[in-house]
Amino acid sequence: MRLSSCIRSLVLLLLAAAPLALSAQAHFNGGKALEYAREFAAIGPRWPTSPGHMKAEQFLRSHFQHDKVEEDTFTADTPIGPVAMQNFIVRFPGKKDGVIVLATHYETNYWLKNINFVGANDGAATTGLLMAIADQLRGKTLDGYSVWLVFFDGEEAIQSWSSSDSTYGSRHLAAKWGRDGTLGKIKAFVLADMIGDKDLDIQRETKSTDWLVALMRQAAKKFHDERYFFQREEAVEDDHLAFLARGVPSIDVIDLDYGPNNAYHHTAQDTMDKISAASLTIDGDVFMETIRLINLR
Ligand SMILES: [Zn+2]
Repeated sequence: MRLSSCIRSLVLLLLAAAPLALSAQAHFNGGKALEYAREFAAIGPRWPTSPGHMKAEQFLRSHFQHDKVEEDTFTADTPIGPVAMQNFIVRFPGKKDGVIVLATHYETNYWLKNINFVGANDGAATTGLLMAIADQLRGKTLDGYSVWLVFFDGEEAIQSWSSSDSTYGSRHLAAKWGRDGTLGKIKAFVLADMIGDKDLDIQRETKSTDWLVALMRQAAKKFHDERYFFQREEAVEDDHLAFLARGVPSIDVIDLDYGPNNAYHHTAQDTMDKISAASLTIDGDVFMETIRLINLR
């Protein structure tokens, strides 16, 4: 073999091997999710009725302006009277008949309005996660089910947590989609909450649908991330309950263990330095793989 053809063979071999090497290492862009979360948390406190809340709405509106975004506006009946609230639904169409919903909440707590509570982990991290997931879904018709991203308002209590003072956005949307028949199209509802934590330990929420928990466990295994998922069981009241109650297979992917003795949860210490790109990469890998597995089911 002449030297030039030897080099050409080598180059061809390297070119052939490159995509394999790349796909073996391909991970979700948790760095981008963190960047989005940082921009979103920088808005500051965004409790219902605050100027920060309006900025948060504007941020989502502007970010998704070229996507199929729906603003679901409603009035919540709260302990402080009627409050205008706003869910955002961003739709990415698929070839298969049916919908997978990925959801988060984006607002912060009204009752924390007198401290600088920015909810880096509680609201911003998962908003950033869903924005980075949108980057992967945009610009093509998905091979599987449609994926709808939902950004709920009013997850947090206005005064103190109860079944009537919490989860305003999800209760409103589940009821609305129950009335108009949309719920029947939803194959799975996957809720992300507080999973930007550097010290990631996602609980197995006890009311969540068994097959979805099993599928997500299988997804985590693919990336050798099992240790971050479902090592401990805990019942959590969250935005998935209104959907579960209406028969939609649902899972709450939540890490309620945040800081030493939970010191960062609902305190001014819930700041960007407590969350990481590494955790958001794990989340994104496992969420994308879970979507793939739901489509195969
Ligand atoms: Zn919270």
